[in-house]
Amino acid sequence: MMLKVLFYGYAMGERSSRVIAHRLKSDVAYMYLSALQQPDFRTINRFRKDNIGILKGLFVQIVRLCVEMGMVSVGMIAIDGTKLKVNASYRKTKKADGLDEEISVIDKQIESILKECEETDSREDEIMGEDKSIYEVTEELKDKQKLKEKLKRAKEKMLMSNSKEINITDDEATTMLHKGYPPEPSYNGQVAVEGSNGVIVAATLTNNPADYEALKELIEETEVNTRDKPSEVLADSGFSSYENLEYLEEKGIEGYIPDQKIESTRKGTYKHPEFHKSRFKYDGSSDSYICPMGKTLAYKGLMKREGKPDIRIYRCMDCPHCKRKAECTKAEYRTISWDPREFLIHKMCTRLETKEGKIKYGKRKYLIEPVFGDMKYNRNMRGLLLRGKLKAAGEFLIMCIAHNLRKVAKYLIGSNYPVLGPIMV
Ligand code: SF4
Repeated sequence: MMLKVLFYGYAMGERSSRVIAHRLKSDVAYMYLSALQQPDFRTINRFRKDNIGILKGLFVQIVRLCVEMGMVSVGMIAIDGTKLKVNASYRKTKKADGLDEEISVIDKQIESILKECEETDSREDEIMGEDKSIYEVTEELKDKQKLKEKLKRAKEKMLMSNSKEINITDDEATTMLHKGYPPEPSYNGQVAVEGSNGVIVAATLTNNPADYEALKELIEETEVNTRDKPSEVLADSGFSSYENLEYLEEKGIEGYIPDQKIESTRKGTYKHPEFHKSRFKYDGSSDSYICPMGKTLAYKGLMKREGKPDIRIYRCMDCPHCKRKAECTKAEYRTISWDPREFLIHKMCTRLETKEGKIKYGKRKYLIEPVFGDMKYNRNMRGLLLRGKLKAAGEFLIMCIAHNLRKVAKYLIGSNYPVLGPIMV
C-alpha cells in the first residue's frame, strides 16, 4: 500500500510526505490506493527512507513487466544524465581552510560557554533567576561539541577522498554546474531509455559530474534488466571517451556519440576552430604533422601512461616566430599527441556524418530529453529530498519507477492490451 501511494505521489509530482499524507484524506485516487488507510507523514517519510534497498529489485520487475507487455525495444537506446540538486545549501560547502576557520570559531564559542558555566557554578543562586538556566548552557555546549565533531569528520572525509571541498549537510554530494543557474551541491542521475515507448531500462546516480563513466554501467544494466542486448547507443559528447568507444567496439554495439572537441568546434564554443587538431594534416612519409601555417610538427617521442596505450608526441619548433601563435597555443611550442585509438573517433565521426547517422543521432533528443524534461518540469522533481548518496539514489529510482508506471498506464489506454487485474509489483 505504501509503495503504491509513494509511486503514485511521485508520478503526480507530489513528493512531500506531508502533501501525500494530506492527499490520503482528500484525494479519491490516493484513498483508493491506500484502501482508506491514512498513515501520517512521519510514517510515509520513514517508510521511504527505510526501504531504499528494495527499490532496485522493484525497478527491474517493472522494466521486465514492460518487456513482457511488448512495450520495450532494446535495439536502440539513448543514454544521458541530469544534475539533481540535493537538499542542502551551497553555503554549507566548505574548503579545508573554511572548515578550519569554523572549527576555530566553535572552539572559541565552547571556551566562552565553559567560562560562563564556571561563573554560573560560582554564582548559581544568582543566575538561576535570570534568562539562561544551567540546563540551557549545557545543551548549548553539547550542540557546539556535536557541530565541531561533525566538521572534523567532514574534513577527514574530504582529505581521504582527495576532494577540494565538501558539503557539511550532505558530505557525499558534489558541487555541479546547472545550466543558467549557480553551482549547487548535486548528484548526477543517469538513465538509458529504449526507443519505442520511452521506458527507462537502466538508471543510476553518481556524485561524478562527468557523464562518460556511466556508459558501461548503463549498457550492462540494460542487458540484465531487459535480458536483451542493445545494438545501437545514442549519447551526447559528454559520453565520448576512448575507453567508451573501445568498449562499444568490443561489444559490437554501434555508437552515435560525437567527440567533445569536434562538437565544440561545430557549436562554435571552441575559440579558434581553424587551429583545432583536426586542421593539422598528417604526413605519413615523414611521420610529422603540417600546421595551418604550413610549418612542420616533427615526432618527438613516446609518452608512457599507466594502464593506457603510449601516445606519440609531435612538436613544432617554429611557433615563437608565428604571427598567429596567440590563436594556436599558449605554450612556447605547439604540440600534438596521437593516441593509437584515434581511429575510433574518426570512425565515429564518419558514421555521424552520413545521412543515416545524422537521422539516428537526431533521435537522441526526442528519446531522452523529454524524460528529464517531464521529470523536472511536469513532475516538479528538480531536486532530491533525501540526503546521502544511497538514499538519493533510492529517490531517483522512485522517480524512474513512477516514469515507467506512467508509460505503462499510457500504453494500456492506447493499446488493446488485455487488463486482467491490478498489476502486482
Ligand atoms: S603557432 Fe606554431 S603550430 Fe601554431 S600555427 Fe603557428 S607555427 Fe603553426
